[in-house]
Amino acid sequence: MQGTWERWEFLNPSMLPFGYNETNASEYFPLTREEALTRWYKRQDKSYEPAIMDITKVLKWEQIPADISKVEESIVNEILICEVSWRPYKITKQELEFYRKHKLPLPKKHPDIRHLERLNKRPWRELYVRNCDKCGVEMLSVYPQDSDLKVYCEVCYNREVY
Ligand SMILES: [Zn+2]
Repeated sequence: MQGTWERWEFLNPSMLPFGYNETNASEYFPLTREEALTRWYKRQDKSYEPAIMDITKVLKWEQIPADISKVEESIVNEILICEVSWRPYKITKQELEFYRKHKLPLPKKHPDIRHLERLNKRPWRELYVRNCDKCGVEMLSVYPQDSDLKVYCEVCYNREVY
């Protein structure tokens, strides 16, 4: 490797274990299938969605108690349908334990929809010159000056928090 490119360069993208469309990079820098393959990125086209072999296994939300403590363990063997995308998904045992521990209701949306909603809540990767809302010093922030959020400079933030 010392005499060839491998020692000094990133690994060839074709050696990566995941498809480009499975990574967070594809959310910020989306590529079409052809563009990704041209750059030697792998692509994951296999669906991980549960197959609905038996339609009677699909639960309606009216059948599921809203109170997580009343949800039975057998829910991990059932298939749920997303109320937004109508895609099937399952709840894992670990998820169920997490929701029970934190007294949270079962999610009614497919994991991809939940991920997309979280992604849309993040500020875009762009910096704005704005003023601190406490002392007025000029600074960079992902929130523009006309944003509804209060943004403090590092000094004011640290003074407020500590
Ligand atoms: Zn300040």
